[in-house]
Amino acid sequence: MSNFYLDNPALKFQLSHPLMPKIVALKERNFADKDKYEHASQDFDDAIDNYERVLEIIGEICAEIIAPNAESVDKEGPQVVDNRVIYARGTQENHDALKQAGLYGMALPRQYGGLNFSMVPYVMAAELVSRADAGFANIWGLQDCAETIAEFASDDIKEEFLPRVSQGQTCSMDLTEPDAGSDLQAVQLKATYNEAEGIWYLNGVKRFITNGDAHIKLVLARSEDGTNDGRGLSYFVADNRHDHTIKVRRIENKLGIKGSPTCELVFSNTPAKLVGTRRMGLIKYVMSLMNGARLGVGAQSVGLSAAAYSEALAYAKDRKQFGKAIIDFPAVYEMLALIKAKLDASRALLYETTRFVDVYKAYEGIETERKLEADEKADYKEFQKNADAFTPLLKMFASEYANQNAYDCVQVHGGSGFMKDYACERLYRDARILTIYEGTSQLQVVAAIRHVSTGTYLKKIREYEAQQLEPEFEALRQRLAAMTQTYEKAVAQVSESKDNEYFDFAARRLVEMAGHIVMGHLLLLDANRDDMFRKSAEVYINYGEAEVVKHASFIKRFDPAQLENYKA
Ligand SMILES: Cc1cc2nc3c(=O)[nH]c(=O)nc-3n(C[C@H](O)[C@H](O)[C@H](O)COP(=O)(O)OP(=O)(O)OC[C@H]3O[C@@H](n4cnc5c(N)ncnc54)[C@H](O)[C@@H]3O)c2cc1C
Repeated sequence: MSNFYLDNPALKFQLSHPLMPKIVALKERNFADKDKYEHASQDFDDAIDNYERVLEIIGEICAEIIAPNAESVDKEGPQVVDNRVIYARGTQENHDALKQAGLYGMALPRQYGGLNFSMVPYVMAAELVSRADAGFANIWGLQDCAETIAEFASDDIKEEFLPRVSQGQTCSMDLTEPDAGSDLQAVQLKATYNEAEGIWYLNGVKRFITNGDAHIKLVLARSEDGTNDGRGLSYFVADNRHDHTIKVRRIENKLGIKGSPTCELVFSNTPAKLVGTRRMGLIKYVMSLMNGARLGVGAQSVGLSAAAYSEALAYAKDRKQFGKAIIDFPAVYEMLALIKAKLDASRALLYETTRFVDVYKAYEGIETERKLEADEKADYKEFQKNADAFTPLLKMFASEYANQNAYDCVQVHGGSGFMKDYACERLYRDARILTIYEGTSQLQVVAAIRHVSTGTYLKKIREYEAQQLEPEFEALRQRLAAMTQTYEKAVAQVSESKDNEYFDFAARRLVEMAGHIVMGHLLLLDANRDDMFRKSAEVYINYGEAEVVKHASFIKRFDPAQLENYKA
């Protein structure tokens, strides 16, 4: 029986990271549930055993059910019948299998029927599901939405909705509208409060909503009359009760992730409940929701890269030309080495980011139960800042690499890669959305650039630099130190220009430079713990170094007066 968890030792490796005992202890509140719930973890080893047992089940469902269904789901897609979505047959089968195995609500507290898993194994599960079918990963992954309910909603709302998520009811996040895409401050869907009934009602249109006919919907809506910006928006939860107040007007006919229904929705007097406080919808709750979803797209991207690597590798070993397997040609093995290095680099960044999120979210939870000590508070702030800085970096790099890897996977297949006979054609189409939704790569740069200016990345790079390594890795570390010097010079040069437009223009190059150095260090630290990462560390540092030099050369020679040449 094949198993996507057991066939990939790089995942188990992440569970042995030195920060895991801290993450598990914080998440389990020092194992306070152990006498309250039959399946609660007794100690750290027991928690890791539980994670592994569940990941093995997911790994098997992915390999045996979801991946084999991916081709037919891609062909069949969902349909709209009477304003309702009907999933493709395979999608329904995937959903039922995960539901029966109790794999919804993984990160939710036990009191709501969840497994109370920390984010690391949850994100790992998302990676596995995406490797099997990136489109289906959306439907399963939208259980993320429950996190914002658990964090910000009243106890009544939590009790009403969270057990339903654990039982396998699905969610959607309804933010985008025709005139509000990257700029969510422009959202117009109206929320009106009926004083007499004490109920909010939603009216308006949403578009591009993944799994738009979900049972539980989180909706960003304008609750404050006369406002036009983000401060007039609130966050609501609506129960899609099939009473025709939410209609699926159509589903989009898309390039990829065909099994994931992307819906246009009409809300007509839909009853809804306010989550948290009014006016904080975009500023607080949607930001938190999107950060979780960006981590999810990071996992989805890494999963897709893993699929691209395995397809490309298998084909390159099998296909013979000029009397030998094509994998023996340098041009082909270099492509494979780069796919692998970008996969390993983005995975290293994925789990590093996830650990930051795990620690700060755990403190956030503890803070609702008791006052944090001063040292805990400082730790919380540090991890939160790192999570803020690394999330956009992850989302941008992992999604761009998934696209590059899917592109190279097709290239390795030659003409066959262009045909529907091989999975790589689907991977190539599925990858394309990853750099667009949950904030485009350009918007990730907007979020990341302040961490270039304020030095968050540099501080983290210095911490990585200071870690103990085996002597054999010293030369690579020195190359990373030289790349960091180049990065610092480029940042200084762009900052000194005091030209805001030029700063925005150079931002992507600066963010990418930081990202290459961070991922180089992470791979080196991984290689120091396990030899299976040594090759990728070397290949990635070669690649990242060339990219850093290229960007530095562009910045060094660029005169901001040339900006005019770039305008249409
Ligand atoms: C398949 C699919 C599924 C989706 N699922 C959901 C969902 O479940 N829920 C939901 O709410 N939404 C969803 N979306 C919407 C998605 O999040 C948006 O499409 C995305 O955020 C981009 O918005 P837009 O399409 O309006 O593009 P625009 O915002 O119009 O962007 C167009 C271009 O301009 C660039 N741009 C815009 N502003 C800036 C800026 N300030 N700086 C630099 N460049 C900028 C962008 O990077 C992009 O290249 C989905 C979209 C798709 C295609």
